[in-house]
Amino acid sequence: MEKAKNIKLLTRLVLGLAILMVVAAVVVVLVNRRIVHNAVDAVSGECKTVVVVASGDTLSKLLMDQGLSHSDVTAIAAELKRSAGITGLRAERDRFEFVRDTNDAPVSKIVLMPSPWRQVELSCDDSGAWRCNTIDVERDTRAVYRVGQIKDGDSFYLAGQRAGIPAGVLADVYDLLAFEMDFERDVRAGQKFSVLYEENYHDGTKVDNGHVLAISFDALRGNVKMYRFKKNDGTYGYYDEKGNGAIKSLKRTPINNAKVTSSFSTRRKHPVLGFTRAHKGVDFRAPTGTPIPAAGAGRVVARSFNRGHGNFVKIRHNGTFETLYAHLSKFAKGVNVGTTVRQGQIIGYAGATGLATGPHLHYEVIKNGKHVNPLTVKLPAISNLDDAQKKKFIEYRKVLDDGIEKLSQNPQWFIQL
Ligand SMILES: [Zn+2]
Repeated sequence: MEKAKNIKLLTRLVLGLAILMVVAAVVVVLVNRRIVHNAVDAVSGECKTVVVVASGDTLSKLLMDQGLSHSDVTAIAAELKRSAGITGLRAERDRFEFVRDTNDAPVSKIVLMPSPWRQVELSCDDSGAWRCNTIDVERDTRAVYRVGQIKDGDSFYLAGQRAGIPAGVLADVYDLLAFEMDFERDVRAGQKFSVLYEENYHDGTKVDNGHVLAISFDALRGNVKMYRFKKNDGTYGYYDEKGNGAIKSLKRTPINNAKVTSSFSTRRKHPVLGFTRAHKGVDFRAPTGTPIPAAGAGRVVARSFNRGHGNFVKIRHNGTFETLYAHLSKFAKGVNVGTTVRQGQIIGYAGATGLATGPHLHYEVIKNGKHVNPLTVKLPAISNLDDAQKKKFIEYRKVLDDGIEKLSQNPQWFIQL
């Protein structure tokens, strides 16, 4: 009896599982199905078919599905490469619009949208040749202002989300602030911060977020301010209130949001060895596999293993600074001795190789051959403004500050850029 009951239960369980798997399979099929829709333009009578690229799609498959010939495919691929620099398709991101004069006519125009702000139009002339034309989509950019405050037990990320700052913008703010402060030592309950950033609209609808224009953070070591400013050469940089470069040659905290688990000291009890010796770097909590970015641009001078550091990478940044990253579980592909890396490029992944009690990043900064505290060492700015540009910056900053003042009193307002 008991056995029969068990068998019945087992059968039900197996049946339940089977149903679940069928449901999951249907969901997978639905998700993987390419989004296609057809519409006839009421005014022109043109017929439009929209296709979103799905994984596994190729240009030739997409085009031939629309009735285009092999020679059309070859011509279109060449034209896309030559005049739009497009050589591949991205699943779930790229969108095609196929236009026909009537429902059963051949495709006369193809519009590819590699980004919401760029349209690539391919049209077929009477001789059958394809021509490509790139159009920038008109964008209306507004600057919005958000203010937040750190609460007890909060992270900057949580407080930022509460303030209504989108995740992508917060990540940019993090990256910028990581040059100036470390989130472990400088963040406390009660601190206020604000961010002025761009929102991009098209036809009155928000499409995406743009750049961070200004940041203010009441850090423990004082208020940190940064402003985005266009230089004479047309490039942009971030500067402090006085116009000094805010982007430093090195980041104090290479990984975002990492807790300091052991600080720099000339004497400390080693957790594995048990006796007292200097800790020549800073330990950041990082689960195994956490990508480790280069703190600054430079050249890899060591990619090796030793008993203490385990797998480690050392980068020479300029004549003065070197950085070292230890206990890595593995190295990033293509990172070898002699490889040139840019700031933020992933060089390896966190782990616990060598003498480590658990996975973390051990990070060292070496200045003129001597170990220094990464969190306090004075770091040179990447680009400073000359006197004339500094004057221009100060004027611009005053205008921006005035705008920020108005927005702080009317949070629902925005600045039209
Ligand atoms: Zn360490």
